Amino acid sequence: MMTDASIEPSIETLDKHPLPPKIIDCIHEFGAQPSPLCAYIYDLNALEERIKTMTRCLPDRTELFYAIKANAEPEILAVLADHVDGFEAASGGELNWLQTHQPNNPIIFGGPGKLIEDLNQAIQQQIDTIHVESLVELSRIQTLSHSLQLPVRVFLRMNINIGDIGSSKLVMGGKPTPFGLDESSLSQALDIIDSSPLIHLCGFHFHLMSHQLSVERHLLLMQRYIDMVKKWQHDYSSLPSSLTINVGGGLGIHYDYNPQHFDWEKFCQQLSMIVEANPEFNLRFEIGRFITAPCGYYVMEVLDIKQNLGETFVIGHGGTHHFRTPAAQQHNHPFFIVPCSTIKTIETEHQESLTDKAAITNTNATIVGQLCTPKDVLAQNQWIEELRIGDYLVFTLAGAYAWNISHQNFLMHEPPKMVFL
Ligand SMILES: *Cc1c(COP(=O)(O)O)cnc(C)c1O
Repeated sequence: MMTDASIEPSIETLDKHPLPPKIIDCIHEFGAQPSPLCAYIYDLNALEERIKTMTRCLPDRTELFYAIKANAEPEILAVLADHVDGFEAASGGELNWLQTHQPNNPIIFGGPGKLIEDLNQAIQQQIDTIHVESLVELSRIQTLSHSLQLPVRVFLRMNINIGDIGSSKLVMGGKPTPFGLDESSLSQALDIIDSSPLIHLCGFHFHLMSHQLSVERHLLLMQRYIDMVKKWQHDYSSLPSSLTINVGGGLGIHYDYNPQHFDWEKFCQQLSMIVEANPEFNLRFEIGRFITAPCGYYVMEVLDIKQNLGETFVIGHGGTHHFRTPAAQQHNHPFFIVPCSTIKTIETEHQESLTDKAAITNTNATIVGQLCTPKDVLAQNQWIEELRIGDYLVFTLAGAYAWNISHQNFLMHEPPKMVFL
């Protein structure tokens, strides 16, 4: 990293920006290059601290897997590998990716519409567990395990009614969805399993909620899962008495300037009582967003500032083709401004005065990218104290469902620089 004192952020800058100093340093270092900056910066130390804290809070008999669809960058997986119990793949592609990048860690495999070749590969490679999404999938697993003469451990993914416990932004179940089996298919599923000596039912899987910010609601959900499995154990004598319940992920990140994310510590404290009261069950989390979102920053250098029919637009180097999160979540994404500390280009007097005029103070502006679509908006109508061309817009909470959910090829702009600190 650059250590030149002249580009050290001032205290004032730091006060204004709750960004870690090393992120600011990094922006200045890469920003000093001639072409305007556009980058993802990942703070791997912060990621490691976060996952350590998360696992430290976990009650006994509780496992934590990372759902790699949130962010599968090999550097991220490498940091997490030392701290999680394994990784969750939600497609054949992710399964292959894990077998390439994390071959020595337990893999669990879920997701609707698994190809027969994916199932075949998972069974041949004897991965930890397969999450069964439908009766058809279960019968395919039955056929494959029989013809390969290999055992396979499965969880049945269930969709259940959760009444009014579910009110988070993105409900994955508790209403008709393409995910999992409903109770009416359970007896048939258990018949298939009972007639297949090579299929071992290890537990049930639930992932009914996303963006959960309420500890109370999430605890109710955990209790509900346990109660359902107990009921099924009562109804079906073939079910083993001790099972693992995969309780999914879906813990919420609060995309705001003073974020109040899901309170994991408080949740774990109260969860330990539920775990103690139910010694016949192990719990397993497969969490994505909550683990990686805070470690990522998306940085766009300001290319242009303009007025158009009475509104002010700030055009950054990049856009939703790199960072689709605000468009996908339909929110204004929080960002901070890091003032440019170096004058990059030698401009003629005329250009300089135009660029100067483009600076804005104490006004509302909409932050957009370089795409030729009015949907390329990262934050609308935001109050800006001071901003000029060449400054950096730094979007926080960009470490999950960000680069990898973006339509990167649209308009053929260069990809962002990827920096792992
Ligand atoms: C996406 C997904 C997860 C992870 O969800 P987060 O909201 O990122 O924690 C876990 N399990 C399943 C089945 C998923 O589809």
